[in-house]
Amino acid sequence: MLNRNQIYEAVVSDYSAEGQGVAKIEGCAVFLPNAIVGERCLVRIEKAQKTWAAGKITEILEPSPHRVSRECPVAKLCGGCDFWHMDYAEELRLKADRVRQALNRIGGESLTEVPILAAPDCHGYRNKAQYPVSVKDGRAYAGFFRAGTHSVVENRRCRILPEEADRVKDAVIDYVNQFRVSVYDETTHKGLLRHIYVRRGAVSGQILVCLSVNGRRLPRVPELTERLKKIPGFTTLVLSVNEKPGNAVLGDEFLTLYGPGYIEDTLCGLNFRLSPRSFYQVNHHQAQRLYQTAIEQAQITKNDTVLDLYCGVGTITLAMAAAAGKVIGVEVIPQAVEDARDNARRNGIENAEFFCGDAGQATLELERNGVRPDVVVVDPPRKGLNADTIEALHRMAPRRIVYVSCDPATLARDVALLKAHGYALQSATAVDLFPRCAHVETVVLMTRSK
Ligand code: SAH
Repeated sequence: MLNRNQIYEAVVSDYSAEGQGVAKIEGCAVFLPNAIVGERCLVRIEKAQKTWAAGKITEILEPSPHRVSRECPVAKLCGGCDFWHMDYAEELRLKADRVRQALNRIGGESLTEVPILAAPDCHGYRNKAQYPVSVKDGRAYAGFFRAGTHSVVENRRCRILPEEADRVKDAVIDYVNQFRVSVYDETTHKGLLRHIYVRRGAVSGQILVCLSVNGRRLPRVPELTERLKKIPGFTTLVLSVNEKPGNAVLGDEFLTLYGPGYIEDTLCGLNFRLSPRSFYQVNHHQAQRLYQTAIEQAQITKNDTVLDLYCGVGTITLAMAAAAGKVIGVEVIPQAVEDARDNARRNGIENAEFFCGDAGQATLELERNGVRPDVVVVDPPRKGLNADTIEALHRMAPRRIVYVSCDPATLARDVALLKAHGYALQSATAVDLFPRCAHVETVVLMTRSK
C-alpha cells in the first residue's frame, strides 16, 4: 500500500472513466485530477487503499504537448468541466478511446478504432444551466458545485454557457440580494431559493427561467420579472416547488409565474415545445448530428414500424416519422409525454403515438399486444437498459437496434446482452456533445444475425 502524504514520481499512463489521469505506482492505480497521459510528475498521495489511491500532482516534470493554460479562471475548482487543462485533440482522443475500450473489454468486441464527431465549438454550447445558490458574508451568489462537494464555486462567466444564461443568473441574484429573499440551507432545510435553472432555445433564442424553491411562493415577483425582461429572449418564468431534502434540482410541481411555462425550439427541422422537466440535449448542433447518425443507421423504409424507447419529448421519434410507416415513443415522465404529443401535433405528424410508462414494462405490453417493430431505437439514462427491456427486445426481434448511449460502460454491458440474444454489433460512433466535460455519447447499430 502506498503511504499517505508521501511524494512519488510517476508517469501518467491512462485515463479513468471520469477523465482523471491514472498512473501506476508500485502496482497501485493512482487517480490524478488534471493529469494528461504521458506526463511525468511528482505526486502526493492523499488517500491510499490496497489496489488504488487518489493523489495530487505537486510538480509536472515533463508536461504533455497537449497541456494548455486554462482559459477559465475557476476551472481547477469548479466541478462543472473536466478538461480545460488539455487541448481539444487530446480530449477527443480520450473520449473515443474510452468508448472503444468499453466495447472491447465489457462488450467482447475487438475494435481498433471508434470514430468521434468533434464539436465545432467548445464555447457557449450548453442550452441549459442549473446554478446552485449559496450565501457568503451575507450576500447571495450562484455558480457550480466544487467537484464532489456541495460548496458553490462562484463563476461570473461560464465559458460553456451562452452569455444570456449568466445574465439570468446575475438578474436573479440581484433580485435576491435587493429584496432579501432567503437562500436555501441544506443543513437546516430552511430558506427559499435553491437553484436557478435556465434553458435557452439555440435556434429560437427563447429563454425559460425556472427557480427551484423550498416553498410555493416568492416575494416581489413583478420586480423579478421586470429584471428578467431586460434579457433578450426571456419568455417565461416558472417556480418549481421543491420542499424535499436531497439533491434533486427540480421538484414535482411547477407554477407558472410569467409567460406560457414552456419555450419552443427547432431541431432537425421540427418545432419542439420544451417544459422545464423535459429532457432536451444541451448541445443543439451536436444533438442534430447524433440524431442524424441514428437516423442513417436505422435505415428506415416507408412500411417500417419504429419503436423509440426513452423518447423524452419525441425528438428522435418525430425526426424518424417522415421516413417510417409508424413511430411509437415510450417515456416515463408524464410532462415529457404531453410535450411529445403536442410536438407531433404542432408539426402535423400523424403517424406517431406516445405511451407513458417504464420502457421495459411498456415494451412487454406492446409485445403482448402484437406490436412487432422493424427498428427499435433506445436512448436510456446512464444506467442503461433494464432486464425487462432486453427481454422485450428479444421477443419482438426487430431487424435493427439503434442504441444511443450516454455511458460507454452500460452500453457495452447491454451490447454483450444483446449479442447473447442473436444481435451483432455493426458500427459504433462517438459524438462529442459535451466539450470540456468527461461525458460522451455513442450511437451503436446492432442487427439480428439469427
Ligand atoms: N431520446 C430523447 C431523450 C433521451 S434522455 C432525446 O434524445 O431527447 C432519456 C429519457 O429517458 C428521459 O426523457 C427520461 O425521462 C427517460 N426515462 C428514464 N427512465 C425511464 C424508464 N424507466 N422508462 C422510460 N423512460 C425513461
